[in-house]
Amino acid sequence: PKYVYDFTEGNKDLKDLLGGKGANLAEMTNLGLPVPPGFTITTEACRHYLEHGTMPPGLDAQIEEKLAALEATMGKRLGQPDNPLLVSVRSGAKFSMPGMMETVLNIGLNDESVKGLAAQSGNERFAWDSYRRLIQMFGKTVLGIDGDLFEDAIDDLKARKGVTSDLDLDAADLAGLVDTFKTIVREATDAEFPTDPREQMRLAIEAVFKSWNAPRAVLYRRQERIPSDLGTAVNICSMVFGNLGMDSGTGVAFTRDPATGQQGVYGDYLQNAQGEDVVAGIRNTIPLTELERIDPKSYAELLEIMEKLERHYRDLCDIEFTIERGKLWMLQTRVGKRTAAAAFRIANQLVDQGLITLEEAVNRVSGEQLAQLMFPRFDEKAERDLLGRGMNASPGAAVGRAVFDSATAVAWSRNGEKVILCRRETNPDDLEGMLAAQGILTSRGGKTSHAAVVARGMGKTCVCGAEELDIDTKNRQLTAPDGRVIKEGDVISIDGTTGEVFLGEVPVVASPIVRYFEGELDPSSAEADDLVRAVDRIMRYADAKRRMAVRANADTPEDAARARRMGAQGIGLCRTEHMFLGDRRALVERLILADTDQERDEALAALLPLQREDFTGIFEAMDDLPVTVRLLDPPLHEFLPDITELSVRVAVAEARGEKNEGDLRLLQAVHRLHEQNPMLGLRGVRLGLVVPGLFTMQVRAIAEAAAARIKQGGRPRPEIMIPLVGTVQELEIIREESVQVIREVAAEHGVELDIPIGTMIELPRAALTAGQIAESAEFFSFGTNDLTQTTWGFSRDDVEASFFSTYLEKGVFGVSPFESLDVDGVGRLVRIAAEEGRATRPGLKLGVCGEHGGDPASVHFFHEVGLDYVSCSPFRVPVARLEAGRAAL
Ligand code: ADP
Ligand code: MG
Ligand code: MG
Repeated sequence: PKYVYDFTEGNKDLKDLLGGKGANLAEMTNLGLPVPPGFTITTEACRHYLEHGTMPPGLDAQIEEKLAALEATMGKRLGQPDNPLLVSVRSGAKFSMPGMMETVLNIGLNDESVKGLAAQSGNERFAWDSYRRLIQMFGKTVLGIDGDLFEDAIDDLKARKGVTSDLDLDAADLAGLVDTFKTIVREATDAEFPTDPREQMRLAIEAVFKSWNAPRAVLYRRQERIPSDLGTAVNICSMVFGNLGMDSGTGVAFTRDPATGQQGVYGDYLQNAQGEDVVAGIRNTIPLTELERIDPKSYAELLEIMEKLERHYRDLCDIEFTIERGKLWMLQTRVGKRTAAAAFRIANQLVDQGLITLEEAVNRVSGEQLAQLMFPRFDEKAERDLLGRGMNASPGAAVGRAVFDSATAVAWSRNGEKVILCRRETNPDDLEGMLAAQGILTSRGGKTSHAAVVARGMGKTCVCGAEELDIDTKNRQLTAPDGRVIKEGDVISIDGTTGEVFLGEVPVVASPIVRYFEGELDPSSAEADDLVRAVDRIMRYADAKRRMAVRANADTPEDAARARRMGAQGIGLCRTEHMFLGDRRALVERLILADTDQERDEALAALLPLQREDFTGIFEAMDDLPVTVRLLDPPLHEFLPDITELSVRVAVAEARGEKNEGDLRLLQAVHRLHEQNPMLGLRGVRLGLVVPGLFTMQVRAIAEAAAARIKQGGRPRPEIMIPLVGTVQELEIIREESVQVIREVAAEHGVELDIPIGTMIELPRAALTAGQIAESAEFFSFGTNDLTQTTWGFSRDDVEASFFSTYLEKGVFGVSPFESLDVDGVGRLVRIAAEEGRATRPGLKLGVCGEHGGDPASVHFFHEVGLDYVSCSPFRVPVARLEAGRAAL
């Protein structure tokens, strides 16, 4: 096979074979842009090497052939003593990946050719600078020598000379440094630095191949779900030199501002520098716009090329370039990363410019990005005092007093204080503190650390791994890099969207995007900026294209109204359990404690009008839209007092010689209802079958509320949903009773009531027998939270806090199955149930009401298996609308 492609032979669509960098270098070459000539060794060669441990047969010959052609083009041979061709060896996989081998520059230099380079360029300092860079990079990345050894040697030399900048080292200094570096290599590897240019190149290529399996790269792939068998390409590119003097330099550029999306010239430039100097922060870079003054010709050419690249790629590009004595060279381009706001703005601008269609624009933004734009944020106009940064682990803006342990967080928040829990890292003992806090700040651990995983699960703002903030829990303080000390009780503000940590209270403002969705900000008004207009335009298109409806999970008239403003087309899950809390607890206790039918009926009769009112309000808020009401789901003991508290109360009373009959009976009931695994116990439809009259009371309340609304001229569209059904028999019994009640109510009120009765599919057995269940169900709604718990055998409340971060770190899964639907397992059940349910009852309405309904990846899956709607929290409704639209494109 063909293992080596000249830059003139590839193109941007060959990323699988040539890697991203190689494919784009080829594309630029063929666009006629000034790219230093070179060639790319394919990922296929890498795969062979990784599988067999040897270079594929024929590869060497192909490399020789391409190298010979390159030498002919350049008019010099690799490492030729009097006039050396130098090359860079650059890794480049399909996806860029931390942990992969870094680029080695200046391959081909040795004690002979360094002199040739000096003579040929007339710049001795430059030649020795290039040589020391080669030994340094080669030593670090190919030979695996600790990079600090080289850095320290440079620092020592500078200290001895009494200078601070690399530029103050002259040719003799750098030649001395080359000797020092060679000694470092000899001592670290027991071998001389390889001086044969061919050997340098071969070793570097092999090192790139091997780095595919470097631990950090392996871990990254697992977490990002990048297949492990792609392999990486290797690019061999003839060197151009930005370190030839002040008329040379190197830089990076963006065709638009990747932070805001605004058009303009963005980038950094560094004179007399090579490669990574720009990003390494060795010297201060200058803004790209100043290049206009330094080298107007190159600047003009660069702008022209940027324009050309943008038109060609039809997107924001980022660029790496080098200027060698006034001549511009392009060294890399790719479609650039950007913030959420920039993504929406740029997509919209490109439509305006006629570069992309609106459909493409919708595909270029994501629900994840939209969600980021919807979190409350710190007021950009307010003064902020940055203490430091960490990772943006869970979005949002939180303000509170710094506390350094869970107990203090709980105690202070009970007193009405807002707190930020600051820990080095968290563990399950911190759970209560995390719940009590406004936000969580840790100094260790990444986005899969315990703090990050649990905070995301709780929807709490979290900044994690802020290593530069020294969190000292023992002394209850944290120290910023500039030495400032934050003590317990001092107010801090943390931004989970950017990872920033500020001193004091930064004012929080609502997102303008939420105000837009809520109907408070008219996109055509002067107050709305181009971001709001971009979102509006993209949402309209997504709404017009999507097949699935989007409903919300809402339990109160207020939530229902808000959801409706956010674009919900009904309620997919109206839970009824909260309707049994608060003042109504007493009634529920009466129901549970009832000894006789009469007592029980009285308790139920007392609950009925309250329930009816609940439903009336919701039906009104969702007039003419479907409202799926789920009958009572949680185990009854959740409505009783806590067993420990109650036991203590009874014991204390007894010790005093008092006797509280009521408490004693309650305690008995609590004991009777206690379950080892409540999640798998007496709940859902099982309650409906065991507690006479409970479900029929709820059904009556729904039917009467509907009747009342009809009489008021409304159009209520209730649907009754039975939770936790495992077999069709359960559903049949409840269904018969419910139909009977609905009929009675219709007759009593003289109205027509059409109330579909369906079930949740949240047990594997329900999914597997969906064909039977569909005989009795008029709709299915997948309860993917419980379905995930029951399929995996995970108790969500326990596992997220105990071992999920370990699972994520070990790469068992890349994302929690509670965050994003496990398509292979849980998704398979959804698919089976959808297909078999519809085989029994064609046109069976299918929806999902778990939190996955608002997760972008899951929404695409639900679209694909043919669900009619997704339902999610009101806040996620716009995200689901956008993703449902994107799924349909
Ligand atoms: P990364 O993937 O980290 O961006 P690159 O392979 O792009 O690594 O190399 C990093 C930098 O090294 C480039 O941006 C460029 O400045 C420099 N570089 C790479 N190859 C060459 C070359 N042939 N001539 C000059 N500089 C180069
Ligand atoms: Mg690069
Ligand atoms: Mg459930």
